[in-house]
Amino acid sequence: MAKKEFKAESKRLLEMMVNSIYSQKEIFLRELISNASDAIDKMYYKALTDDSVTFDQDNFYIKVSTDKVNRTLTIADTGIGMTKDELEKNLGTIAESGSLAFKKENEIKDGHDIIGQFGVGFYSAFMVADSVKVISKAFGTDEAHQWESNGTDGYTIEPAEKDTTGTTITIKLKENAEEENYDDFLEENQLKSIIKKYSDFIRYPIKMNITVH
Ligand code: ADP
Ligand code: MG
Repeated sequence: MAKKEFKAESKRLLEMMVNSIYSQKEIFLRELISNASDAIDKMYYKALTDDSVTFDQDNFYIKVSTDKVNRTLTIADTGIGMTKDELEKNLGTIAESGSLAFKKENEIKDGHDIIGQFGVGFYSAFMVADSVKVISKAFGTDEAHQWESNGTDGYTIEPAEKDTTGTTITIKLKENAEEENYDDFLEENQLKSIIKKYSDFIRYPIKMNITVH
């Protein structure tokens, strides 16, 4: 599968993001959880305007899981998902906000719950990730795709398997360095306190699933 390069502006922005904008690496969790919440909100808005869509609270949640052996952290949601084109547009171009576009298209005014607007939050994952894999299945489609990138030299998109609508983001954590202990993000208590700190206002359940092996 041919690798696509990020656009030149995107590359520079990505470097800035990873190196300076955020002083605390842990906020990537806030960003990914807010994106997951936005994706569920979009299903909620769909249900408001489309009679064929029902919004049953029990089916909408965010799940954070870890795998200590493979050093991965996964954030999954049962939200609206992304098509191949949306993966390309929203994740292949920094500062492209699908959420801002959604608010405009659906005439959702300020003060509503959808948080995203700047189109940069997702990339904060690269502060802690060697690589990021996004598998997504968009609402109303039966194909899934996988977007994968190591943040520096572009991304690939290819067909993938996924049973349910929504998005699963798997972060392969960086190797620990002298002053950075990325393993913290695999610890249940650490994760819980970070999630509590930044995501207390999220309206959907955030479940946790820790595999210790
Ligand atoms: P923002 O949230 O400010 O729009 P991000 O960089 O955080 O910017 O995300 C870029 C875009 O990627 C979002 O606007 C959204 O369209 C899409 N996206 C990111 N994460 C998800 C997700 N979990 N489910 C569906 N779409 C997502
Ligand atoms: Mg966001």
